[in-house]
This record gives sequence, C-alpha cells and structure tokens, in this order.
Amino acid sequence: MTASADPSLPADHRELLAARLDEVLARLDAAAERAGRDSTEITVLLATKTRTPAEIAAAVDLLRERGRRIAVGENRAQEIAKHADPLLADNGVTRHFIGRLQTNKARDVVAFAEMIHSVDREGIAEALERRAEAAGVRRDVLVQVNTSGEDSKGGFEPTVEAIAPMVERLRASRALRPVGLMTIGANTSDDEDVRASLHRLRTLRDELREQLGAEELVELSMGMSGDLEIAVEEGATIVRVGSAIFGARPA
Ligand SMILES: *Cc1c(COP(=O)(O)O)cnc(C)c1O
Repeated sequence: MTASADPSLPADHRELLAARLDEVLARLDAAAERAGRDSTEITVLLATKTRTPAEIAAAVDLLRERGRRIAVGENRAQEIAKHADPLLADNGVTRHFIGRLQTNKARDVVAFAEMIHSVDREGIAEALERRAEAAGVRRDVLVQVNTSGEDSKGGFEPTVEAIAPMVERLRASRALRPVGLMTIGANTSDDEDVRASLHRLRTLRDELREQLGAEELVELSMGMSGDLEIAVEEGATIVRVGSAIFGARPA
C-alpha cells in the first residue's frame, strides 16, 4: 500500500481492473447461458484479501455499474480493519467472511460480516453464536463442507449424516441462521474432479433441504477464479473471485 494524496485508484489501474472484471463476467455469463440460468442472480463476491481499499472500492463501483449482485468477502480476520477505510465504510455493500475462523476472532467477524461462509466445526458455531447474541444481531451462516477430501481444507465430511446435526443445531439458534453450504473445489487441473466436488455440494444441499424440510438452505457458495464456470454450471449462487479480477496476489 503506497501513501498518496489521492486515495482513489489511478485511471490506468482502474482500466485494467475493468478489463479483468469484464472478462470474468463474460465467463460467468457464458456458463450461466449454458446452464439456462440468469447470471444476474448470481452474487459476485469480491475476495479482498491483500487488496487495498482503493482497489476494492473501484471493483465495487464497476460491478455496480454493470448491474451485478455483489458482496465483499474477506478471509483474513486481521484484514477486517481495512474495510473501515472511508472508501469502503459506507458503500452499502454486503460484507461476508469467507476464511478459516478462529474462535478468538469471532467477535470481529460478527461485527464485520452479515454472512459467514466458514462454519466448519461446533466450536466456531458456539463462538459466533455467543458473540452475535452479545451484539444483539443475527447472522446468516453457511456450513463449510470438504468436498474434495483434501487434508488442507476445512469443513465437514461431504455426507448428509455429517452435516445434518450442524444444520439442525444452527436452525435452533436465535442468533445464527443457516442459509446454505460452502466449499472450496478440488485443487486440481482435472475439470472432472472439480466438477464432482462442486456437484456434491449441490446434491448435499438438496438432500438436506428435503430430509430436514429446510427450505432456507438456498445458497451454494462455490467457484473461485479458476473454476467459476464449472461452479455456475453446477448451481453456484455465490462465486468468490479474487485474482481473476484483482490480478495475481502479491506473495
Ligand atoms: C482467496 C479466496 C478466494 C478467491 O480465490 P481466487 O483464486 O483468487 O479467485 C475464494 N475463496 C476463499 C475462501 C478465498 O480465501
């Protein structure tokens, strides 16, 4: 982050951002068309880790100009503070938290985010619930599922038996409201493996809805820069995009 008198993004940087964004939206639209879906109903969540307030604010503006449903998603609790920047503070964009959670950050996350994508264990549900109750707010949450089986990924096993107790526990909460499932697709260049993992999330949501009578499970948060087309084809309602819009992340 460089200090500068003008906090907005230089014009050439904004143009580059717009070009990348239009490329992402074209990919999204083509996938939606193949799937017979209306792409303007899919939320484009800007994954904001490592990005400056000026970059994020510019991307929000550009997405708004293009009539998209948008959200801002932070995955690092230590970067929540940057969202209080005047460029971002009052822009009215829905804020989500998408990263792995630690219980000692639950208060910050509840204060920041209207939707929390990463409920991956009971301890986190408990911490979020306690903080939301204390703050007198209710938060939408997604249950994170490890659909790829990769050890590095958090989330419940991809079975109805593993997830249903958490969904029921959340439905009984007055401070949290389960609205769907989230996953990070298989980390492989094999599209069929990626598709299988994302398809699994949709099947699980549908089965949970039916078996629990949980009509409120509408969201499928899946798809990132590398796999957003497959995710849209498989029913994603929220795609989480970082590098394809903002460029490669600084190391
Ligand atoms: C960073 C991140 C994304 C976006 O990843 P890109 O590949 O940069 O699009 C999506 N979801 C989560 C949980 C992330 O941390």
